[in-house]
Order: sequence, then structure tokens, then C-alpha cells
Amino acid sequence: MADHSTAAATLAAPAVPLIDIGINLAHDSYDRDRDAVIARAHAAGVVQMVVTGATLAGSARAVALARAHPGRLFATAGVHPHHAADLDAASLAGLAELARDPTVVAVGECGLDYFRNLSPPAAQRQAFHRQLELAARVGKPVFLHQRDAHDEFIAILREHAPHWRGVAHCFTGSAEQLHAYLQLGLAIGITGWICDERRGAHLLALMPQVPAERLLLETDGPYLLPRDLNPKPASRRNEPAYLPHIAAAVAQARGETLESLARSSTTAARALFALPTP
Ligand SMILES: [Zn+2]
Repeated sequence: MADHSTAAATLAAPAVPLIDIGINLAHDSYDRDRDAVIARAHAAGVVQMVVTGATLAGSARAVALARAHPGRLFATAGVHPHHAADLDAASLAGLAELARDPTVVAVGECGLDYFRNLSPPAAQRQAFHRQLELAARVGKPVFLHQRDAHDEFIAILREHAPHWRGVAHCFTGSAEQLHAYLQLGLAIGITGWICDERRGAHLLALMPQVPAERLLLETDGPYLLPRDLNPKPASRRNEPAYLPHIAAAVAQARGETLESLARSSTTAARALFALPTP
């Protein structure tokens, strides 16, 4: 879509490279122009990306993408709580095999989502336990999703401590939830939700409270197009080239320069996911 390149080109790339730690690049909305999306991301200074796997098939697609772009794209392998009911013994074995792939840098996304309960809560808890165990077995961090299930989410993570490291992806919660996450040792993933003046304004005041070495940046594309993006792509599709826009909002909320935030968040992402420096 022609307007994407125009919009992305107007964003100034920071002097320091950025890493998009949560991009659903295997999503079919990128099927037509995935290479152009990747090229625009690189032009915008997004030098590495972690491609989110949310189902067994989606994780296999994420691994295929990572294999095709070595050193630039990496994958997670996991089953999102929406699909938790699909995680039977056979698919768990398949997931375990994917999780051991060298391109896979985290297990997930996994966690709990009681907002719509697309899988029954008991199945979600089972799938979450199994994936935390898998992460410990393969020695990789977890990429975590939580919605409307904070207390049980924390309780399960506590049960498995200290056998996991990980990131709470797309953090949109309260100060209390942020501090509970930080106390558990989680890193915090911030998306363009922070650019939404209706739903995300509360996050601005929380940004200075996240230690720099635990603050990671993500677009969660094609979802969560930053609301204040100007000009806006007509398709409403989010893409990793918009990560500098999100980084600028986070840097401003923290009272630091974009370069300083880019440096710390890139270092933090490489540390958590053991990414090489290209
Ligand atoms: Zn998620």
C-alpha cells in the first residue's frame, strides 16, 4: 500500500539502533509486502526484530521468517492463551521442538487472558504452566501476555520462580501492577498504546519508574497502530517502521533523549533474548 512508505519515510531514524521485541510479522496482513515492511523497518533504524508466535503453526512461520533473515529476525515459539485449548500432548511436543531451534529466542507468547476467555481459564492455566516448564527446560526467556488475570498470572509466575526470565509484553496496566511485575523480575514491553490519549495516558507517568535495563520497545504490529501518528496509513496497519515514533513518546515521558532510550532498550533486548550485535 503506497501510503505506508510515505508515512514511514517521514519518521527520523534515531542515531542508535532499535529492536522491535514484539512484531506479528507472520500475520497475513503482511503477506503482500513483507519484504518492503522489513526494508522500511531497517531504514527507520529498527535493526532487529523478534517475530511473535501465538499458535503452533504461527510459531513455525515465525521460525521460517527468522531462518530467512539470519541475525536480523528472531522468533518466539508459543501458544497464546486464546489458543490454549489447542495445546494437547502432540502440539506440546511440536512446540518443544520449535523452542529448541536456534532462531527461537523466547517461549511464548503465553500467559492468561480472561477478557474474552476464548479458551477456558483452566485450559489457559494448564498451557501457561506447560510453557513455563518448557522455557526452563530449553533455557530461554518467556514472552508473556496477560489481560484481566493479573492475580492468577502473578501466582503462577511465583510458583515457577526462579526458573524463568521474561518480559510482560504490551504492558498497559496500573502502577500497582507495574510494581508487582518489577518485583517479580520481569522486563516491561511498551507498545504504541502509550500514544493513545484516551486509553494510554496513565502510562506516561509510569515510564520514569521502569528501570532502563528492563524497558523494552515493541510495535505489536499489525495491531495497535499509534493513534497520534501523522500522517496515518489509510490501512490502519501498524508496522515496525513506526517503532521510533513509540520510542520518542517513551523517551519524552522519561525525560531522556531518544538516543539514550534507544541505547538502553537495545542493550536490554539483546541481554534478555541473547541477540547478537549485527
Ligand atoms: Zn499479547
